[in-house]
Amino acid sequence: MQTIHSYDFTGKKALIRVDFNVPLNENFEVTDDTRIRAAIPTIKKVIEGGGSPIIMSHFGRPKDGPNDKYSMRHLVAPFSKLLGVEVKLAPDCIGEEVKSISKALKPGEVLLLENLRFHKGEEKGDVEFARQLSENGDCWINDAFGTAHRAHASTAVMAQFFPNDKMFGYLIESEVESLDKVLKNPNRPLTAIMGGAKVSTKITIIENLLDKVDNLILGGGMTFTFVKANGGNIGTSLCEDDYLETALNIQKLAAEKGVNIYMATDVLAADAFANDANTKVVPSNAIPEGWMGLDAGPETVASFKKVIENSGTILWNGPVGVFEMETFANGSKAVGEAIVAATAKGAFSLVGGGDSVACVNQFGFADGVSYISTAGGALLEYLEGKSLPGVAAVRE
Ligand code: AMP
Repeated sequence: MQTIHSYDFTGKKALIRVDFNVPLNENFEVTDDTRIRAAIPTIKKVIEGGGSPIIMSHFGRPKDGPNDKYSMRHLVAPFSKLLGVEVKLAPDCIGEEVKSISKALKPGEVLLLENLRFHKGEEKGDVEFARQLSENGDCWINDAFGTAHRAHASTAVMAQFFPNDKMFGYLIESEVESLDKVLKNPNRPLTAIMGGAKVSTKITIIENLLDKVDNLILGGGMTFTFVKANGGNIGTSLCEDDYLETALNIQKLAAEKGVNIYMATDVLAADAFANDANTKVVPSNAIPEGWMGLDAGPETVASFKKVIENSGTILWNGPVGVFEMETFANGSKAVGEAIVAATAKGAFSLVGGGDSVACVNQFGFADGVSYISTAGGALLEYLEGKSLPGVAAVRE
């Protein structure tokens, strides 16, 4: 397999699939350039290697062909500034004109292709469209992990036109390496902390993780589906009655596989879903009528901390309480602190999934964890054990 580290880019036109799907304000100014910044190292590597980067991305959700609102032209200035190179914009992403612009690029010159999704062939994974895209370059670099779960023309299908000249960019490489450190060869014990609102959205991940983890901490709103399934009183706490049996089945599977499950034994309950509600700590299976559990209680937090701090590898997906309200943020904050402490002692920690990333940022823990994944859907599918077309296309 080729890698970006060793590939010779001298005189090569390198097609790089990035994720430049950034937010714009009403004046078409980029309001968060994180994704553009993240792509810079891979692009610079090609330039430093004597090649010409040709950048491809989707941007927004254009429905019927070209639409100025979703033109890459809005990104040219901020992208050029971040890269420190005047980037040229192509009028389209395929066609004779674009091909001749690509061919004429000198080493170090950078071309940004127009929005891939102006063509229906992109999302359809159309082979002919992929072939036309491929004609612009000599090699293909996939650096868009966020779309790696899609078998689109530029994210996967294109690979067939570069059997010996395809590779991951730095971003996707570190993402895949970090995930593999957790899922394929973790330092033991491996602890996964699954939180968030519902069991239903996490069930496939939990089932997949049962084959891999030593400890499974289940927190947040999904706790109460488990507590109710075991005959506890949960008051007005969040519960998915359709998943009571699923919850019992997870407990049974965990026991069979020798996975330790940790769940709240006490909770911080409130008489309303509000930051200024009345609160009290109660056993998680004896929540009074009219009260709801909104955070892990002190005894639970202590037991979660102990498990986390003794782990060799930690995966965190989802808060263990309603962390958006200060009153119910303690449990998630404590989990974050324990992860930071374990990481400082040498554990590998990966935080992923929108809300746990928000948690880590809110509490200022970002520097204390090993890796933060912001990949959303692609991350969840990887955790579910699915093969990602954009990853498989490079590896096969
Ligand atoms: P998810 O998107 O499934 O990861 O869920 C994240 C959301 O779960 C956050 O907005 C939390 O506020 C919410 N959450 C966590 N714990 C609870 C709880 N005990 N009751 C209700 N919502 C919760």
